Amino acid sequence: MNFRCECGHRIHDNTDNLPYKGYFIADQDQDDLMDEIDAAIEESGPSPQDKEEAAMRIRSLTTRLFKSAYQCSKCGNLFMDLGPAGLEMFRGVDPVNKNLLQSALGEQWRGHLYGEWKDTIPEWQTSHGTLYNETNVSDPAVESSGGGQYGDWGALERDYYELFHELKDRDVIRYSQLKKNGTVLHSWSLPK
Ligand SMILES: [Zn+2]
Repeated sequence: MNFRCECGHRIHDNTDNLPYKGYFIADQDQDDLMDEIDAAIEESGPSPQDKEEAAMRIRSLTTRLFKSAYQCSKCGNLFMDLGPAGLEMFRGVDPVNKNLLQSALGEQWRGHLYGEWKDTIPEWQTSHGTLYNETNVSDPAVESSGGGQYGDWGALERDYYELFHELKDRDVIRYSQLKKNGTVLHSWSLPK
């Protein structure tokens, strides 16, 4: 789904780990959720099926009780998704903190890094390479290359590895991948 903020910016909800999306739970509901989690741990039967059913009950309750919230990354307006009642918008007081819905861990949240290059691109695309820094750490190299857009493979490859090592050293990454024309040239995930 996506919708437009009054400032003109379009807010998309089409992928996971969005830095501008969060969830609210009412204080009136929180005890019920905690009770369901306690019951799943303490009272569910011993079989894998019992465990799976207990986990499903928690997930389904979470879906019912959590309300989604979005923040416009351009102007900072906050939206609460009230389901059938639609979206409720709240305007902030200047200067607005536009990172309200980022992870509580802030820059320490472990995110993802994706680099992708295509020799052949559709007409509507303007660059062959993109570097997606999906962590809460902003990188000057990526910002200076126009938000991670590349016309040169060598520059993309260099920036990818540089950023990968920096993010890995800072322990703020859980998955990283570099693809060229559909072939994965490098991938790394945090050991479990
Ligand atoms: Zn806006």
